[in-house]
Amino acid sequence: MVLEPVLCPACESDNVVKHGRAETGKQRYKCRTRECNRSTFMRDDVYRGYLPDVKQQIADMAVNGSGIRDTARVLKISPTTVIEALKKRSSH
Ligand SMILES: [Zn+2]
Repeated sequence: MVLEPVLCPACESDNVVKHGRAETGKQRYKCRTRECNRSTFMRDDVYRGYLPDVKQQIADMAVNGSGIRDTARVLKISPTTVIEALKKRSSH
């Protein structure tokens, strides 16, 4: 089994530590970057946000006028991931 690096969905730093488990039993992580305002996150937040089809769905929902919170809820990702995906998209 290959250990993949876990990156913070907000600052993309790998300076993260394990931080207990969520109610669902999933591993929770905590970002240790001092300037980062993201406290804890789950790995699914990170990887779902980086999948091209999820990015596309985020973009489509934004075009259709969906709010960040709505998009996050529908796609089951964190609002931070939505914001980051939209930021990256507009910087191209
Ligand atoms: Zn961070």
